[in-house]
Amino acid sequence: MQLTILGCSGSLGAPGNPGSSYVVSTPGNPDVVLDFGPGALAAMQERFNPSEAHVVFSHLHADHCSDIASLLVWRRFHPELAATRRHRLLGPSYAPQHIGTLGADGPDAPTDISDTFEFTALRGGEAVELDGVRITPFPVEHPAAESHALRVQELATGRVVTYTGDSGFTHSLVDASLGADLLLCESAWGPDSAGQPAGMHLSGREAGRIAREAGVGKLVLVHIQPWSDAEATRAAAESEFDGEVVVGAAGAVFEV
Ligand SMILES: [Zn+2]
Ligand SMILES: [Zn+2]
Repeated sequence: MQLTILGCSGSLGAPGNPGSSYVVSTPGNPDVVLDFGPGALAAMQERFNPSEAHVVFSHLHADHCSDIASLLVWRRFHPELAATRRHRLLGPSYAPQHIGTLGADGPDAPTDISDTFEFTALRGGEAVELDGVRITPFPVEHPAAESHALRVQELATGRVVTYTGDSGFTHSLVDASLGADLLLCESAWGPDSAGQPAGMHLSGREAGRIAREAGVGKLVLVHIQPWSDAEATRAAAESEFDGEVVVGAAGAVFEV
C-alpha cells in the first residue's frame, strides 16, 4: 500500500503544511483518508479525487476534522467530480452530529451527512473492513471523547500502518503498533514531555520508545507544532529507537 501525507502540522495548519491528514491507497480500491484537518482538501485535490475516498477519524478535535465541511461541499456540488456513491465514514459515535454542525446553515440546522456518507461508529478493538484494508481502533488517552489510534492492515499483503492520532503515553499505543511496517506517531511535545500535562500528547522520546517496544519497521514523526524543533524531536526519538526515524512532511509518499 502507499501512504501519502497531505498534512501533518500539529494542532493547527502551517504554511505549506495542512493539519493532520493521511491517504492510504491500495490497488484497485477507493482511497482511505485518515483525519481531515485544516487545508487537507486543497492538498487532496492536487493528487487524488476527493469524491473517491472513505474517511476515518481518530478523534474530532478541529485540527483533525475541520476540512470535512468543505469535503461535503465538494462531494455534493462539484459540477463534474461530485460523488456518485456514498462512501464509508468511520469515527467517534457522535461524528454525524459534530460534522453536521460544522456544515450547518445555523444553530438549529445541522446538515444531514447520510446522503453522501454511510457512518459506522468506531469501538475499541472492533475491526472494520473497508475496500482493501482492515482498520482496528485502539482507545488512547486524549481529552477528545472517543479518541483512537488506528491500525490499518492491507488485506492483500498483510502490511500494516499504525497512526497514533493524538494521545499521551499509554501501552495501548504499543499494542496498536505491534510489528507495524510504518508508525505515524504524534510528537506534539517536541523532544521531551517533562512538565507537560499527562494524557494529552507524546514527545519524540516517547515516540521512539513506542517504536522500539512495538518493533516497528519505520517511525514517521508527525503532529509537530510549527513552533517546535523538529530536528531535536527526531534526535530524541533516535535516542530510543535504532530503526529509521523520519520527520513527516506534506507531500511525502511512503511505499509500505
Ligand atoms: Zn491534534
Ligand atoms: Zn487532539
